[in-house]
Amino acid sequence: MRKLGLIGGMSWVSTAMYYEAINKGVAKREGGLSSAPLLIESVDFAPVERMQSAGDWDGLAELMIASAKRLEGAGAEGLVICTNTMHKVYPQVAQAVGIPILHIGDVTAEKLASDGVARAALLGTRFTMTESFYRDRIEAHGIAVNTPDAGMVREIDRIIFEELARGTVSRVSQRTLKTCITNMAQARNQAVILGCTELRMIVDPGANVLPVYDTTALHARAAVDWILDEEPAAPVRELADAVS
Ligand code: GLU
Repeated sequence: MRKLGLIGGMSWVSTAMYYEAINKGVAKREGGLSSAPLLIESVDFAPVERMQSAGDWDGLAELMIASAKRLEGAGAEGLVICTNTMHKVYPQVAQAVGIPILHIGDVTAEKLASDGVARAALLGTRFTMTESFYRDRIEAHGIAVNTPDAGMVREIDRIIFEELARGTVSRVSQRTLKTCITNMAQARNQAVILGCTELRMIVDPGANVLPVYDTTALHARAAVDWILDEEPAAPVRELADAVS
């Protein structure tokens, strides 16, 4: 098995989900007592969030690069950045290390494309929903991406930072997401992308009008493929290079 480094802590709540999903995936495929060879660097999310809000993306790139290099130096053969939003600095981090980084947007887009989805709703932080760094990555696979109206963007972003990233799940927020997904279905979207690694906490994939693509689960599955050397490396890397 290959050793994978996780840059986590954004938030710790979703990193715990990655840890469980990756280990369960490896155990299921390898059997017995098998578990995933992992290195985890879990950062303090408070300064990261402050830098995001201040627009200090150069500082955030430096932070992620330092973390990636420490993991590489400690023996990681590949990396995963356990958040959608921080993929805004993916190009700088990918350039700074000599090991592959599995891009959460590519993994998600490949699954959507292979399922024949041509038009999808994207939910996530305000950065992920309103900026181009993530949308472009999905659209590069021929999928049209739509986001909710400005009011809903603000509310989902608030739910992520004030509730989910602190480990809080509320019925009101569950209902908000359900309403949002229903509206996105009425706007002729064929699927919804949970483009934030905590959203799964308040969205039940089995109880919605649209097929739900949970980026945490898809990213963790790609991590398992990679650890077991079953990943379709070439297409992901080529596409990553083409859009970065
Ligand atoms: N985990 C969230 C995401 O997937 C938000 C945390 C962050 O801002 O990095 O985007």
